Amino acid sequence: MVGSKCVRLNGPLIKQLLDSVDSVLFDCDGVIWRGDQAIPGAPQVINLLKENGKRVFFVTNNSTKTRKMYADKMSSMGFDASEQEVFGTAYCCAMYLKTVCKLEGKVYLIGSNAMKQELEAVGIQQTGVGPDLITGKQNDWANVPLDPEVKAVVVGFDEHFSYMKLNRALQYLTQQECLFVGTNRDTRLPLEEGKAVPGTGCLLQAVETAAQRRAHTVGKPSNYMFHCVASQFGVEPGRCLMVGDRLDTDIMLGSNCGLKTLLTLTGVSTLADAEEHQKSGCTERQGMVPDYYVESIADILPALQG
Ligand code: PLP
Ligand code: CA
Repeated sequence: MVGSKCVRLNGPLIKQLLDSVDSVLFDCDGVIWRGDQAIPGAPQVINLLKENGKRVFFVTNNSTKTRKMYADKMSSMGFDASEQEVFGTAYCCAMYLKTVCKLEGKVYLIGSNAMKQELEAVGIQQTGVGPDLITGKQNDWANVPLDPEVKAVVVGFDEHFSYMKLNRALQYLTQQECLFVGTNRDTRLPLEEGKAVPGTGCLLQAVETAAQRRAHTVGKPSNYMFHCVASQFGVEPGRCLMVGDRLDTDIMLGSNCGLKTLLTLTGVSTLADAEEHQKSGCTERQGMVPDYYVESIADILPALQG
């Protein structure tokens, strides 16, 4: 059916789609691995795509690892992947501050050690990483000592998130010229057996609520994530495929940037979710309808082996 979306990708359609692209962007969690386990067949898919001359990139909203840490994780799972192919939000956030904002000054960081490392790698100093415990009396909290060199507040995943960090971010953000950047808005991090824990979106919304300001986010579905890859590797959007497990981040990113989109059902979103968006008739929701879907990316293996 010409023009139809949300089509199951199988048979000759797989080869047809692969022939129509030069680059493939893979989301990580829920697509090539779940937690610490590779999705069965995923390393072979990635490695064969490369052997077939495709350029492969990894785009993850998870800000808790540096590019190097991701490359090491992938090698240990059997993926042929280099640091330069990994675009995590810790790295992309640092690049955004450096190249788009041209930040001159420090960052007040609500985030991980990995974010600190990626910021430092582009020459940006930070303050804030690690625990920030309550001190003094409530009346003094609005007067906590601030670092005058801080010119941006950055929020990523932070296991040490606390009331005092929220307060400190608010105090910096009352300075209107202070930039406000978030890594991503994923509200929940899915775990096995339908369990979940709060994601970075929860922390970011808390800071936005306190500061009464809205952050700019760099992670999916923000175009910046694709721009970051495209500006370094000259990717042509119309000949690029985005593979993801989330409709509101991965598939939306692909639609926003004019990429072909493939939903895999090994992660968060279901086929029913996609069909609901499609049937809604709502224009904004059509960006969350993928062009194609597969049960698992392993479904494309036979086309690569043949
Ligand atoms: N953010 C954090 C902190 C995570 O742990 C995860 C998944 O593990 C994500 C975001 C989502 O990552 P991805 O974009 O690879 O699905
Ligand atoms: Ca995912």
